[in-house]
Amino acid sequence: MKTNVDGLILKELNYGENDGIITVLTKEQGIVSCYARGVRNIKHPSFAATKQLTFSRLTLYQGKGMYIIDEAKTIRSFYNICSDVEKYALSQYLCELVIKTTPENVPSEGQLELLLNCLHLLMEGSKSCEMIKAIFELRLALISGGMPGVLFCSECGKYDDDEMFFDYEENKLYCSECFKGSDTVCRLSSGALRAMRFILLSEPKKLFSFTISKASLDQLSECAEKYMTCLVGSKINTLAYYYQIKSLL
Ligand SMILES: [Zn+2]
Repeated sequence: MKTNVDGLILKELNYGENDGIITVLTKEQGIVSCYARGVRNIKHPSFAATKQLTFSRLTLYQGKGMYIIDEAKTIRSFYNICSDVEKYALSQYLCELVIKTTPENVPSEGQLELLLNCLHLLMEGSKSCEMIKAIFELRLALISGGMPGVLFCSECGKYDDDEMFFDYEENKLYCSECFKGSDTVCRLSSGALRAMRFILLSEPKKLFSFTISKASLDQLSECAEKYMTCLVGSKINTLAYYYQIKSLL
């Protein structure tokens, strides 16, 4: 029996001469691995639709232990991102984060919508890589069930302060009076904290509609990355690659 799913190709693995195994993020079933026979041949009708960063309609049938792609049609390609090396490196990191945090066979509409929106903004170029990265990390943490506890001081309940301290290992926020020192802490100005709360609490449509100073964005970025790295708990190769590329620019 054949089934149709719409999914974003997150990863391609070459297999044999012209075959591939692709990892797809679908709304209905989360992460799905599919065998794609012959698709690495440029003349294959599903060649473009099975490339990484392509959102495609896939017709699948169940093989032994893995889906097999019968047909793939492109809905939208984000492949142009590859023409900008920094955006490309960031897109690889976003895809790896999704693979590492999204379960198989569980509906993953939130992850798919977030990633499609971020890839769209990367292509369009209206938001910086730094901002897209921080928003993606925090929002993905939230969707994955790891809401950062940044709503009030975990000791006294204070909501606002000139500066607050977020312990990304403990997942606890402290005001300046309650903070007693820690090696796993990020400082957050009131602007950075406001932005962090906005990202976590706003509706998906408004997610990118805020402004932030460079200094606060730097704090927000550090905090989002450290929290996400802690949540993933294993090495994220594409994060190192992203910084390597940035250092060359
Ligand atoms: Zn406090």
